[in-house]
Amino acid sequence: MQSISENLGQVIREIDDATAKCGRARGTVDLLAVSKTKPVECVQEAIDAGQREFGENYIQEGVEKVQYFAGSEHAADLKWHLIGPIQSNKTKQVAEHFDWVHTIDRIKIARRLNEQRPKNMAPLNILIQVNTSGEESKSGTGFDEVRELAKEVATLPNLVLRGLMTIPEPEDDHRKQLEAFAPLSALFKEMQAQYPHFDTLSMGMSGDMAAAIESGSTMVRIGTAIFGARNYGSAN
Ligand SMILES: *Cc1c(COP(=O)(O)O)cnc(C)c1O
Repeated sequence: MQSISENLGQVIREIDDATAKCGRARGTVDLLAVSKTKPVECVQEAIDAGQREFGENYIQEGVEKVQYFAGSEHAADLKWHLIGPIQSNKTKQVAEHFDWVHTIDRIKIARRLNEQRPKNMAPLNILIQVNTSGEESKSGTGFDEVRELAKEVATLPNLVLRGLMTIPEPEDDHRKQLEAFAPLSALFKEMQAQYPHFDTLSMGMSGDMAAAIESGSTMVRIGTAIFGARNYGSAN
């Protein structure tokens, strides 16, 4: 089995290859390492290999990792992204510990995060999660509601609206992956003209990273290809 450091190197090469292949400039796709269910030792290995941005799905687990690494050598450079659902009774934990939230699909949650973001912290970076798979998926706002939600989020002073995120239904076929990403990519480009800090399109996971990059993703969220398969048996 390859080490986390070797896996990271390989994923970065694959990102560079996919970026070059579709004529995009090198360095225009950020890598978010998805460390959910993985112990702090694995996160430390990735940090030692140079990784600085981490994605967590479960609020409690994420907060524990943020706190664990708060006093560490690279603490100031680490960025923590919440990429899982938020229940409204957990917003305070999120507002006090995370740097980014990818899963905003209702204004109520955004308002709570805005109120609860501590004044001594930088504004919380926000992505609106969009449901690109229709009825099969329950999370994310519908295409028709994105603009309205964005307009409201943009008025909240302790949040910065950075862009859009999606989790399409798993699909193996490259061409079908491209079809699934295309509408969000178009919407992202259109909205970029309206919002000054709108620079992030979060799409692409271990199984559809190349298609996401070809479709204009600026941030891929990679778990399995870096940390190996997850064992949910002992988690939660
Ligand atoms: C788990 C997860 C990922 C990473 O998925 P892999 O297939 O392991 O790369 C990315 N995004 C979200 C929202 C996730 O929940």
